[in-house]
Amino acid sequence: MLKIYPKKCTKCSKGFSKGIVIDGGQEYYCSEKCCLEQHKEEKVFPIKDKLVTYSEFLKIIKEDQDIFNEEEIFEWYAFTEWYVPDLQNGEAAYDSVGTKVYATFNIHNYIWDEQQ
Ligand SMILES: [Zn+2]
Repeated sequence: MLKIYPKKCTKCSKGFSKGIVIDGGQEYYCSEKCCLEQHKEEKVFPIKDKLVTYSEFLKIIKEDQDIFNEEEIFEWYAFTEWYVPDLQNGEAAYDSVGTKVYATFNIHNYIWDEQQ
């Protein structure tokens, strides 16, 4: 049986079930490592009314957990989990190497892998 995942990593292209969503779904990352490698030193992460690099962002949230209550960053960060039943009609799923599997597939032919 082929394992499938709801999201595909923007950086490494692997399918995954738990990760980071950036910019309302423009980008998805399976790990902080992939997000960091993709954005390197770009100052594109909004926090405390300024844009910082991903490294700076991680440092800020590590020092100040309350920031999740003050800002809306948890909506794009916070290692969201996705599940097959959440997929909308017509939305694709992905296999372990990121190949698209469309929602028209027979779900009973697949294992929904909730592990990374
Ligand atoms: Zn990745």
